[in-house]
Amino acid sequence: MGSMGRVETPAERRRKGPRFGANFMTVLEVSRDLVCLCAEGVVIDVNSAGISMLGAGEGEAVVGRVFRDLVGGDYAGVIDDLLHLKEIEDSAFPIKIIRLDGTASEAELQIHPARELGPAHAVVTARDISHQGHLARTARHSEDRFQALVERSMHLVLLCHGGRIGYINATGIGVLGGSDSSQFVGSPLSEIFAGEYREIVAADLSALLDEGGIMPMRLARLDGSVFDAQIKATRLPSRGAAPEYMVEARDITGQIRAVAALRHMNDTLEQQVAARTRELAEERSRAVEARAFVESLLEAVPNPLWWKDVHGRYLGYNGAFRELHGIDATEWIGRTMDVTVNPDFAAASGLADAEALKERRRVQFEARLHVRLAEHLDVVVSKTAWLGRDHNAEGVIGVMLDITDRKRMEAELRCLATTDVLTGAFNRRHFMELAGAELDRARRHQRPMVALMLDIDHFKRINDTFGHPVGDVAIKALAATCAHEIRHEDVLGRMGGEEFAIVLTETDQDGALLVAERLRLAIAAIRLPTDQGIVAFTASIGLAERLDGDSSIDAMLSRADMALYAAKRSGRNRVAVG
Ligand code: GH3
Ligand code: MG
Ligand code: MG
Repeated sequence: MGSMGRVETPAERRRKGPRFGANFMTVLEVSRDLVCLCAEGVVIDVNSAGISMLGAGEGEAVVGRVFRDLVGGDYAGVIDDLLHLKEIEDSAFPIKIIRLDGTASEAELQIHPARELGPAHAVVTARDISHQGHLARTARHSEDRFQALVERSMHLVLLCHGGRIGYINATGIGVLGGSDSSQFVGSPLSEIFAGEYREIVAADLSALLDEGGIMPMRLARLDGSVFDAQIKATRLPSRGAAPEYMVEARDITGQIRAVAALRHMNDTLEQQVAARTRELAEERSRAVEARAFVESLLEAVPNPLWWKDVHGRYLGYNGAFRELHGIDATEWIGRTMDVTVNPDFAAASGLADAEALKERRRVQFEARLHVRLAEHLDVVVSKTAWLGRDHNAEGVIGVMLDITDRKRMEAELRCLATTDVLTGAFNRRHFMELAGAELDRARRHQRPMVALMLDIDHFKRINDTFGHPVGDVAIKALAATCAHEIRHEDVLGRMGGEEFAIVLTETDQDGALLVAERLRLAIAAIRLPTDQGIVAFTASIGLAERLDGDSSIDAMLSRADMALYAAKRSGRNRVAVG
């Protein structure tokens, strides 16, 4: 409260400045600014923040100093007048605080008159603004850096305010075919766009630019030529009503060309892939066709055919094979021969498989195969190893030829070749062979052996009287009787006409005489009923025992023949010994 009895207005109080009491320094000790009390320009008190701002160790180093010596800068000259209250400056002013070590720091100084404390008393406050100065410099510096970055950007960068270009970087000037920023600054932004883009941008710039993101657009150079670019607009925080934008543009002509080239390459590649796919499909269908062909080929082969792996397991077989064994398509797959075919066939087949696999050649064998109940076939089997892709043997293919008929025919032929058709006795040639073999054996073992020659008596008469066919019947009857009378190991042969020869093995002359006599009687007992009555006949027999000197059957037979001749001469129907 003033003594004048009137309340001061705030404006008056502000003009007069703060009023200081005796203990104000204690209060201002909490301040982070320098606060000091000066009298006549000399420091009489200072707070801790001031001591540290001045770089003093303790208060004493500062108190008693002329404050003017502690400051520098433009306003230093007026400090004394202000401190002596000759002049009043309400607002803060910049000054340099000279620290005790001589270094300076930026400060904002304010001098408050303090007449209530004494004449020419003033309170000085100083705020260290060196930090703020640093910030400002940093800001300026980073602005410079930003400018440099933007200027040197590889892309067009421009600032646009109220639809007009305010700034454009060097790259942008170049890209748009200009030489100086003045060619662009101030122009409507829409002018850098080409064709319909120009109209769109001119019509509704903010709607377009506010879309954000990257937009492909077409730009126009100063000379009217156009190019494709990617545009990115960023709305900047701005104070005014008109929006401010940073617009970046990147020429993508090269990129588009590259994309086109890539697309072309892709297309070509796609075509190649499609062609290859087609080829593969064709190959595959050809493979399928080939497989189907092979399968039907195998099925068409009339011979049983099968294929097995290296372990002898059936992998497959054709229709003829299935039919042969009476099995279905899968019954034997994975099985082996020891559970499917007769052991002797399996043994022969196993040997052939092993040889085919080892020698890589066709191996053939003949064997008797039992199929189903009690039925058997004579077969010739051909085995070949089948090779995989790496030419390793993967298994064995077998094909079978049924030679049962051939075997029977062979037997028949053999029979035809060795026997006489009319009588079933051996023919002359075969008899000679067998008789010769018997002689050899008898000679080797010094065993007795006898040869008989036998001829029907007056056979011509039978032919003449009853006809040739009856003659044949008589010959057959004779052969049958002989065959019946001799042992299995004896050999009977028809030597020609109604003449037969017999080799009696292991028989001496006495034994042979008994046989011959029995034969003679049996023949004489034959009765052949014919249309013209009963036919009967006799036969003469010549007999010759093996002699040590006999080196061939001919010798024995010729002696027997001579004996036969003798028997004829001496009346027929008798046995003679040669
Ligand atoms: P012999 O008592 O001297 O032996 O008098 P033969 O009439 O039997 O005389 P020979 O043995 O010389 O006669 C053989 C006759 O047998 C001659 C021929 O016409 C006849 N003949 C030969 N081969 C056959 C034949 O296959 N069938 C028939 N029916 N007759 C045959
Ligand atoms: Mg005769
Ligand atoms: Mg005769």
